Amino acid sequence: MIRHIFRSIFVTALVVFLASYAIIVGVLYQYFTQVQENQLRVETHMAAQGLNLEGREYLKDLHTDNDYRITWIDAKGKVLFESSSVPAARMENHLQREEVQKALKSGFGTSRRYSDTLMERSLYAAQRLSDGSVIRLSVSQQTVPHLIFGMMHAIVLTLVFVVLLSLFLSSRLSRRIVRPLNDLDLDHPLSNEEYDELSPLLHRIDSQQKQLKDQQEVLEQKQNELNVITDSMNDGMILLNSRMHIISINHGARRILHADDDCVGKNILEAGRFLELQQAISQAAKGRRSEQRMETEDGIFDINAAPVRNSEEQGKITGIAILLVDVTQRENAEQMRREFTANVSHELKTPLTSISGYAELMENGMVREKDIRPFAGKIHAEAVRMTHLIEDIIHLSRLDEGAADGMDREKVDLQQLTVDVVEELQPAAEKMQVSVRCESEPVTVCGVRQQLKSIVFNLCENAIKYNKTGGQVMIHLYRKDDEAYLAVQDTGIGISPKDRNRIFERFYRVDKSHSREIGGTGLGLSIVKHAVMIHKGRISVESEPGKGTVFTVMLPIR
Ligand code: ADP
Repeated sequence: MIRHIFRSIFVTALVVFLASYAIIVGVLYQYFTQVQENQLRVETHMAAQGLNLEGREYLKDLHTDNDYRITWIDAKGKVLFESSSVPAARMENHLQREEVQKALKSGFGTSRRYSDTLMERSLYAAQRLSDGSVIRLSVSQQTVPHLIFGMMHAIVLTLVFVVLLSLFLSSRLSRRIVRPLNDLDLDHPLSNEEYDELSPLLHRIDSQQKQLKDQQEVLEQKQNELNVITDSMNDGMILLNSRMHIISINHGARRILHADDDCVGKNILEAGRFLELQQAISQAAKGRRSEQRMETEDGIFDINAAPVRNSEEQGKITGIAILLVDVTQRENAEQMRREFTANVSHELKTPLTSISGYAELMENGMVREKDIRPFAGKIHAEAVRMTHLIEDIIHLSRLDEGAADGMDREKVDLQQLTVDVVEELQPAAEKMQVSVRCESEPVTVCGVRQQLKSIVFNLCENAIKYNKTGGQVMIHLYRKDDEAYLAVQDTGIGISPKDRNRIFERFYRVDKSHSREIGGTGLGLSIVKHAVMIHKGRISVESEPGKGTVFTVMLPIR
């Protein structure tokens, strides 16, 4: 812009200078020509008077400089006297000269004539004398080109000076014009007061800025809303552009891919190097929806990748939307269901096989009279075991279905409950020759009575079942920091560290045959764990193989 203004000012200054120069030269030339003509007229009058008075004597010894010529012509055009070096006798007839004709006709005449070769102009004035002859004065005058040529030196010097001055002034002026424009504070357009002409533009900028600001605020608000929604999602959401660079990635996706917080703008390859993810993306980039399953150390995820098409550009793919759904729980639940079904079938099959075996023997009369009772007893025992198993399964299924949520919660006196359970288990304890001691203080919790009973019952039953002959069971119930503590300690066989993590799994038994012998189903501790969870409590186990085990349940009182 500076260059443009500079050039305009410079050219304008130069053109103005040259035009002014030409006009001034023209006007001055006209003026001086007029002055010269007037002077010539006066001189011609004077010469005519001199000649009229003195005749030829007047012309004697007359000296004129080179520019001036005096010519005396008779009425027929013959030159009688010529002041220039050319002798009058050799001069041609002057009758047809314009000024001579005018003088002969009206007494006085003037004319101008150019000589292209000499680049000169001559001014002529002629006056008729009393005897009919004509006196003519002429003066040569330089033409404009000749004048310019003569003044070339001065003109060039002036031009150089003018060019330099124009350059200097143009440069300063253009800078001065542009400086306020450069210094415009576009953040606050209305605070600029330099040029009035800019006012409409600045008002426009100001209103557009306000509009942009409003739009930006709306966009930011929408973006924030979207971020809040997507970040609160557990699933991952990623948006890529056509060059596979991340445009948007939510918190869930960053967590799943272990991506950095500043991964936006980077290639997706940098964010997550998972083969299945890359496969899904490359499919989507070809315009096909793709579904993949990816297993990471954090879990199992379903990948849904879909191309994003631009409706205006004939469906051109402009990006890819990726959804990462955490299916770990679903998969684990599915796995557990499969295992549970297999286990249930297996657990039911064993007692049923023995029942049907004994029944078949009895049916075929292969059992002696005296063995019928023990056989019936075995069938009964297996049937009882099956009943226990089915009861436990039903119990667990109810807990799985969340039935406890619908169960009535009530204030349960844990001390009384424990006393009842101990009493109930007394026959079993006696059978195992295990002594059961109970130390308790009054503790009441709000919960589901049946579930709380199953916790106490299963732990105490296990403490008796997995005890040694003559062993002891110590039940300790107390209250600490708003929590009810129930510790069931035994002096039994104990649990090895490797089994300790697994005993809460369904159907897990350390010693399957022993457990079965003593009527275990492998579901007791699963039920305990579930019931504790329902009451938002915790359970811990400490054990030393051969010495004994302590199960401690902590239940919030409120
Ligand atoms: P089960 O019906 O077989 O008792 P549980 O789920 O109650 O099933 O217990 C799972 C396994 O944990 C048992 O088979 C047993 O091996 C072990 N176990 C549970 N309680 C004790 C305990 N107090 N002492 C030693 N082992 C125990």
